[in-house]
Amino acid sequence: MEGNKGFDVIIIGGSYAGLSAAMALGRSLRKVLIIDSGKPCNRQTPHSHNFLTQDGEKPAKIAEIAKSQVLKYSTVTFYEGLAIEGKKTEKGFIINTQNGDSFTGGKLLFATGIVDQIPDIKGFEECWGISVLHCPYCHGYEVRHKSIGLIANGDLAFEVSRLINNWTKDLVLFTNGQSTLTSEQAEKIKKHNIEIIEKEIAEIEHNQGYITNVVFKDGSKQKLSAIFARIGFKQHSTLPEQLGCTLNEHGFINIDDFQKTTIPGIYAAGDNTTMLRAVSVAVAAGMKAGAMINKELIEEVY
Ligand SMILES: Cc1cc2nc3c(=O)[nH]c(=O)nc-3n(C[C@H](O)[C@H](O)[C@H](O)COP(=O)(O)OP(=O)(O)OC[C@H]3O[C@@H](n4cnc5c(N)ncnc54)[C@H](O)[C@@H]3O)c2cc1C
Repeated sequence: MEGNKGFDVIIIGGSYAGLSAAMALGRSLRKVLIIDSGKPCNRQTPHSHNFLTQDGEKPAKIAEIAKSQVLKYSTVTFYEGLAIEGKKTEKGFIINTQNGDSFTGGKLLFATGIVDQIPDIKGFEECWGISVLHCPYCHGYEVRHKSIGLIANGDLAFEVSRLINNWTKDLVLFTNGQSTLTSEQAEKIKKHNIEIIEKEIAEIEHNQGYITNVVFKDGSKQKLSAIFARIGFKQHSTLPEQLGCTLNEHGFINIDDFQKTTIPGIYAAGDNTTMLRAVSVAVAAGMKAGAMINKELIEEVY
């Protein structure tokens, strides 16, 4: 790639957070490179909700519009590929990609997102983001008043079942094995007519991602319209940690109020830093990171 030296900022991750930061920086006349491997976490979801002006739009369409607007700024360059290695230099950072390209930049922003860890339940992956859902703010309205399941256990199950109960009174909690709810939590849940089922789940039967039944290991079945599930995740990229950025106890990159990580010159924004997981939040964090990086670049010459 021509002109791969001397970017003011390299942004790794060119989805909502990364593109938003690039817009703020590109409009600030900074020479910006976005490196993106094209795997946003919501790519299987047919419709994205709860983001002003784009409610109900396809996730890829939102990103496509964003990308076309950002790339109108001649200051911004987009590179399709995977960043696999990073090194700190005297003047900034070198980033190497899987394709063998190498780029230098003064500051680094990780907008790399997270990867969901799909449980070993047949059919779960095919339904993820379609009828097996992560967040009621994103998808609760569409399944309101329907028969909904929640896969969760312990304190989280208590918190999330109260939350989902706001959208439907026809709710079943699947602890998928022995319940770890306290007796007080279980009692409160049952008082709201939420059934607790401890049987282990073998399969989610579905029609092209739309759930029909939950099948238990004992062979019994339960008909449902949708499931909410709280599942684990890992950082999408190991580069932040390779460069010394620390993670908090939940697995998110530690940042301060200005999106700065624990390593000077490296910022992070979007899902990789927060459990408040939404397109709007990622876009806001990206804009903030862009402005804060620009501020730091100004302070370096004044
Ligand atoms: C199933 C599902 C449905 C959702 N539905 C909604 C919804 O309806 N409404 C809503 O507001 N939110 C929704 N969300 C949340 C929303 O998708 C995220 O909050 C948002 O995508 C976060 O944006 P991001 O830019 O931080 O990360 P992502 O969108 O995940 O993008 C990260 C980008 O970084 C790239 N990347 C990672 N590592 C590297 C690397 N080493 N080199 C190059 N590129 C790299 C990835 O390929 C990807 O393009 C949903 C999430 C999921 C999982």
